[in-house]
Amino acid sequence: MIEKYAPIVGEQEIDGIVKIAEKLKGVSVLHVNSTKAGGGVAEILNRMVPLMKDLGINVDWKVIRGDSEFFNVTKAFHNSLQNGAGNLTDEHFKIYDKWQEINSTEVPLDYDVMFIHDPQPAGLVKYRKNNTWIWRCHIDISNPYPPTWKFLSQYVSQYKSMIISVPSFGRDDMEIPQFIIPPSIDPLSVKNSQIHDVTVRRVLKKYDIKEDKPIITQVSRFDRAKDPIGVIKAFKLTRNHVDSQLVYVGSPASDDPEGEIVYNEVVKEVDGEKDIHLLMLPPGSDLEINAFQRASSLVMQKSIKEGFGLTVSEALWKERPVIGGNTGGIPLQVIHGVTGYLVDSVEGASHYMTFLLKNKEYGSLLGSRGKEHVRQNFLITRELRDYLLTILYSMGK
Ligand code: UDP
Repeated sequence: MIEKYAPIVGEQEIDGIVKIAEKLKGVSVLHVNSTKAGGGVAEILNRMVPLMKDLGINVDWKVIRGDSEFFNVTKAFHNSLQNGAGNLTDEHFKIYDKWQEINSTEVPLDYDVMFIHDPQPAGLVKYRKNNTWIWRCHIDISNPYPPTWKFLSQYVSQYKSMIISVPSFGRDDMEIPQFIIPPSIDPLSVKNSQIHDVTVRRVLKKYDIKEDKPIITQVSRFDRAKDPIGVIKAFKLTRNHVDSQLVYVGSPASDDPEGEIVYNEVVKEVDGEKDIHLLMLPPGSDLEINAFQRASSLVMQKSIKEGFGLTVSEALWKERPVIGGNTGGIPLQVIHGVTGYLVDSVEGASHYMTFLLKNKEYGSLLGSRGKEHVRQNFLITRELRDYLLTILYSMGK
């Protein structure tokens, strides 16, 4: 399985991974997160777990359980960590702790390595045995709401090491080692592999999207941090200059209770505009997303806050220029004027949308540079290698 990546990343890279993995043969690793589908963490684990298994590591993946009260609290955690504001109280922290305790009896905690993703299950570390716990943080924790971080960091400090996605997310108040490992996309997944033009056209037809009018796409959960309203406003401005269509694809995530509220806000903003295709697709609509990204003249990821933004690498890999919010992991991928454009406002987004729609060849140049940038930095083989090295280090091997 790992050999299939050799034509894309080179034999040497694969040999290196196999050599590192040999040192971890038979080691048991459990990935734990809070949703099986929806969002970037599940997206990566779906591909990473089979790859690690293929390398002889005894790896499994468990999703924690919670009720709506718990996921309301963890979403408030998420927002307050990324936005630096919130109104969490001891009541919320108690609900969080209650569900850590429940999950501690349902999630096996005795794997050699416990690989815990994001804040939702981070408190499980309280129940650790004498094994190796690694906290993999996918969100921006550079400017957290202090009470939330104070609460969460008492758990984080019990880990052997932690992983962040972007250097600026580093926490000087933590003593444990912090590894900087940006996420990655899988070039061989249904979402990212090459598909035929006929398939692209069939998908467009199915969703009543015109082939002969330029398409702008954003693929994101319905989350205010992804600024769906800003995308629609920017598109409406762009429409004054270039006849075009916007495809906004979202899907629900079981650990995101705000999705429906934000979706309704977006419907209101769309206001029946016929060239805005607002699509709520079920999780696993990978072929459709692949097709929409490929059919686009440019792809948006206009986030206001972003851990990394896998959708950016997904689009660049397909040689589409990306206009992204200047935040979190997006500037690692969008190099301004090289692989796309970074923006801080609706007007800025609209300016570059208009420019790229009017200068398609230039957009293709940015896109092809983007593909190389992703090949060098954001493919799953690189993240896999970094994970293996982090496990080795954390186990003291
Ligand atoms: N995604 C999807 N369907 C949707 C919305 C998103 O499959 O309707 C995927 C998207 O293609 C990407 C992941 O979910 O692979 C989102 O990851 P990202 O890092 O962009 O954002 P997150 O949701 O983790 O904040």
